[in-house]
Amino acid sequence: MLSITGGGRGGLFSVHRGALWWLRRCHSPLFSSLAGGGGRGDAPHLPVLIVGAGPVGLVLSFLLTKFGIKCTVIEKNVEFTRHPRAHFINNRTMEIFRKLDGLAGDIERSQPPVDLWRKFVYCTSLSGSVLGSVDHMKQEDFDKVISPISVAHFSQYKLVDLLLKKLEGIGFRTCFPGEIGYSTQDLVLESKILMGHECTSLQQTDEGILVGVSVNNGGRIIERKLHCGLLLGTDGARSTVRELAGISMEGERGLQKLVSVHFLSRDLGRYLSSQRPGMLFFVFNPGAIGVLVAHDLENGEFVLQVPFYPPQQMFEDFSAKVCEQIIVKLVGWGPADVHVLDIKPWAMHAEVAEKYICCNNRVILSGDAAHRFPPAGGFGMNTGIQDAHNLAWKLSLLLNGVASPSILQTYESERRPVAIFNTELSVENFKAAMSIPTTLGLDPTVANSVHQVINRSLGSIIPRNVQKAVLEGLFSLGRAQVSDYILNEKNPLGSLRLARLRSILDEGKSLQLQFPAEDLGFYYEEGALVPEASCEETQEGGKLQHSKRASREYIPSAKVGSRLPHMLVRGLPASSEGVLSTLDLVSGDELEFVLIIAPAKESYEIARATLKIADELKLSAKACVMWPQGSTDAEVEESRSELAPWTNFIDVEEVPRVSGSSWWEMCRISRENVLLVRPDEHIAWRTESDRVRDAESEIRRVFSHILCLNSHRV
Ligand SMILES: Cc1cc2nc3c(=O)[nH]c(=O)nc-3n(C[C@H](O)[C@H](O)[C@H](O)COP(=O)(O)OP(=O)(O)OC[C@H]3O[C@@H](n4cnc5c(N)ncnc54)[C@H](O)[C@@H]3O)c2cc1C
Repeated sequence: MLSITGGGRGGLFSVHRGALWWLRRCHSPLFSSLAGGGGRGDAPHLPVLIVGAGPVGLVLSFLLTKFGIKCTVIEKNVEFTRHPRAHFINNRTMEIFRKLDGLAGDIERSQPPVDLWRKFVYCTSLSGSVLGSVDHMKQEDFDKVISPISVAHFSQYKLVDLLLKKLEGIGFRTCFPGEIGYSTQDLVLESKILMGHECTSLQQTDEGILVGVSVNNGGRIIERKLHCGLLLGTDGARSTVRELAGISMEGERGLQKLVSVHFLSRDLGRYLSSQRPGMLFFVFNPGAIGVLVAHDLENGEFVLQVPFYPPQQMFEDFSAKVCEQIIVKLVGWGPADVHVLDIKPWAMHAEVAEKYICCNNRVILSGDAAHRFPPAGGFGMNTGIQDAHNLAWKLSLLLNGVASPSILQTYESERRPVAIFNTELSVENFKAAMSIPTTLGLDPTVANSVHQVINRSLGSIIPRNVQKAVLEGLFSLGRAQVSDYILNEKNPLGSLRLARLRSILDEGKSLQLQFPAEDLGFYYEEGALVPEASCEETQEGGKLQHSKRASREYIPSAKVGSRLPHMLVRGLPASSEGVLSTLDLVSGDELEFVLIIAPAKESYEIARATLKIADELKLSAKACVMWPQGSTDAEVEESRSELAPWTNFIDVEEVPRVSGSSWWEMCRISRENVLLVRPDEHIAWRTESDRVRDAESEIRRVFSHILCLNSHRV
């Protein structure tokens, strides 16, 4: 058993051998077959197998491939679903997409114009009275003060299409069952998305995971085996991988059951675009209640969400005809061109997997497989994509033999708390969304109670169709609360309810679209970083201000674990780079650590040590010298001599901010600080340079901590 505690060069190399040992065991088919046993048989061996080609699996495969890790994706469906689910892409995800070969730019160009989706509208019908509306975009969103990119509204299936194109661009191929010639030649399957391949069993072997796959070849099912070193479960909310690995979910299940109706109507799209454009329409009238998501008003593409209550109301009751009737009731007139494309049931949960990693670090969950939230606030896919972003660089450093296997545990210790937090936030958002119908006299908890009473009291004695009639009769009585008779300014009760509704909207207590404090302000408390016990205090001696849940505002912070704050900087000498975001200091094409320093003697010393130790560890790193605005070329020359013999550095100058604060002031730290930023743009370490006595041994300790080299036991 190897147990390394020292921080010196010898220590790092010893542990490095440990990582290589693990790597050989999970990477090399030769090693695996020589080792015998393990039940691999003739199954092709893959270093990394991703189960599920949803947005999270595709982003993960893109990032891994980009970082030089070969992977294969299996997808149970023969075709990609066109039923839109996610549509809101938050700031942090868009920042990640900026570095996915310009994906963010493609989304910006393809999404509907922002004026068509910036509002949520509350109304009695889509053509009836508007009870209120909320504009969710502010000028600062367009000014790009806190991020180099804005949020976006783009249907999930269109995002998947763009991701597939990006993957094609880096050599990936989507293969359909008939096209794949099976052999034990592992290379044949690398960089492929294998459609119609469903993961059905897992078996841990000495060298990895043996995966049972049912291949749907034109309706004929063929059973196959694949062997892999690492299995990444990105197979969605009802994850088979999670179930087969025996990982349970913690939280609240079955908050609501809904029917999702995907339909087209250009007439309705045109009408809403000209009369009351919006992203979400909450419609309450005596005939029907529903939430309409306008995925693309210009092309008349919508998804309607309607709650239903089994067993009295069953999914099968929602035929295309019934759905069309509901649509007409919600619209208030009958658009002639309503075309229902697809109807799907789904259940709302608020759950997080008890663990993300199992089977000796070889099975890892990401995305909805690891957490499922109410969609209120649009955190599901966004959190999943950020999981993939966190996992990809760690996996790549592990598989390149640089980090120890323990780095995978930091994926769980960093991302699981974020998922728990986002679950709570999504439940809060769901409740905020429910505050509007409650105010209008349509308390959804009453509907749930009525449903439960019917289940308990009538469930076993009355036929289902009678129960259904009773339930729907009671619901229809309830919906009378939003009739014109009650809901008008002349009716005292109606006028009181309308006043309450307006104050909920005005005070920002209804469902929000943007959550900058959580979207950009989340941070990791423990993981692949050096906790900052010694630098908790700000320059002024006060505690660092963390993003507060109560406030919508994002407060830039250089606290360890935070995303690097965004600020515009200019490459020096002036002609070299133009204006860029501080986030762009970290490469998107390779795994790179960046040390940000001010031009100061002690900071240069730490930079030299960082570049030296990174080189020893075969890590890509660069130093970034942050010059005050207006620094002359002669002054900037200093960094060349100070950092020699290293040339992997960049000089930038601050572009003045509207607030007038400097980079260091914005980050609430002094110029004596140095910041080490990870490949995922989160701050891994921060210190005041004059506190460091021996730069090289401190940097060894820091990298050792980040790469988990001290914690691995072989
Ligand atoms: C109505 C609604 C609105 C939403 N709106 C938003 C939003 O605006 N923003 C947001 O961020 N999120 C939103 N979400 C959540 C979002 O849709 C999910 O979080 C997202 O789809 C998760 O992506 P994923 O890749 O983890 O899983 P999925 O998209 O579910 O993909 C999983 C893939 O795995 C495949 N698969 C499953 N089992 C197997 C198997 N055994 N073998 C092989 N393949 C398998 C599936 O076929 C699927 O293709 C919304 C969800 C709903 C229901």
